[in-house]
Amino acid sequence: MPYLRTHTEIDLLAIKHNAEAIKRHTGKQLIAVVKADAYGHGAVRVAEILRPIADMFAVATVEEGIELRQADIRTPILTLFSCLPAQAEHIVEFSLTPTIGNWEFATALNEIASETSPTKVHVNINTGMNRSGVCWTEAGQFLDRLQTLSRLEVEGLFTHLATADAVDTSFVSVQLKRFSSLLSDNSDKMVHVANSAATLAVPESHFDAVRPGLSLYGVYPTPEKPIRLKPALTWKACIGWMGFLSEGAGVSYGLTYTAPYPTRVAMVQIGYGDGYPRSLSGIGEVLIGGRRRPIIGRVCMDVSVVRLEPSDTVSIGDEVVLIGKQGNAEITVDEVAQRAGTISYEILTQIGPRVKRTFRSVASNNES
Ligand SMILES: *Cc1c(COP(=O)(O)O)cnc(C)c1O
Repeated sequence: MPYLRTHTEIDLLAIKHNAEAIKRHTGKQLIAVVKADAYGHGAVRVAEILRPIADMFAVATVEEGIELRQADIRTPILTLFSCLPAQAEHIVEFSLTPTIGNWEFATALNEIASETSPTKVHVNINTGMNRSGVCWTEAGQFLDRLQTLSRLEVEGLFTHLATADAVDTSFVSVQLKRFSSLLSDNSDKMVHVANSAATLAVPESHFDAVRPGLSLYGVYPTPEKPIRLKPALTWKACIGWMGFLSEGAGVSYGLTYTAPYPTRVAMVQIGYGDGYPRSLSGIGEVLIGGRRRPIIGRVCMDVSVVRLEPSDTVSIGDEVVLIGKQGNAEITVDEVAQRAGTISYEILTQIGPRVKRTFRSVASNNES
């Protein structure tokens, strides 16, 4: 492999395994959420591996949908958020399935859609998340009114849960009740609600299809693990320099760490310019030679410094694991998120363009 300062390794077979496990668990159609470049895993490659399994893909933006179409993905693609009226033309041109959440976009789309083959749309019902969609109390009327737009065909109805990953899920029942009040008149529609947390733990939210994102990538939204998922992403960097701190010497910007005793240190070629959180300054840990080593001092834009033990045998260019396994040790994305004071979703989607993404799609022989 050419020299890679920092890279991720995406295990596409793990993603396939997760999608199949989710389908077995629910027995429902799968709308695979591949927004934000498949949560940092690479949307095109993920869509290619999931093509035989996913009934539909979901993206956040029209641009994300176009990227998949241009990579020759022919599976239906749902855009999860209602688009701007100016984007209606692209929806039709690239055969995307838009979400309708307001009348303005619906009429703009109806102007452009084809007379002979109506554009299929899904209607987002706001049942309490209060960030998008048609309010559930007005949804019946809205759906009636949509029938007057002859070039649109309502294929699906969905809502999004605000608290499926919370400890107290009582509001999930409130949202499901509000949503279900609309369903008797719409039994012909494809109905979907469940994000990863609800897919794993709330069977009554499964309806016709589930809509997981995070869990496809082998990361659990809550501590419960009802099915076995395999993490798909490993993040590595290299050692770029080694040094020695005499007692009392400081490290990195602000010299926030001072060596309490003579200390060997190594610089790792990873920084916040790569999406490695600066909040891991003095808090994060990495794997070197199969052992945990702490980040000392501030994480810089391009590099970070770790403390070595006297017994460590390391050289410049050695591999450092930021997320994933090395030997018998493992650092999960959840651990990194917790240390950084954020959620796994943010860690994954912040991995930056300087981090070269590589893919593995053949089984390795040490697969457990
Ligand atoms: C992002 C998103 C999902 C997937 O959520 P996960 O928690 O990653 O499973 C599902 N539905 C909507 C509307 C979303 O925005």
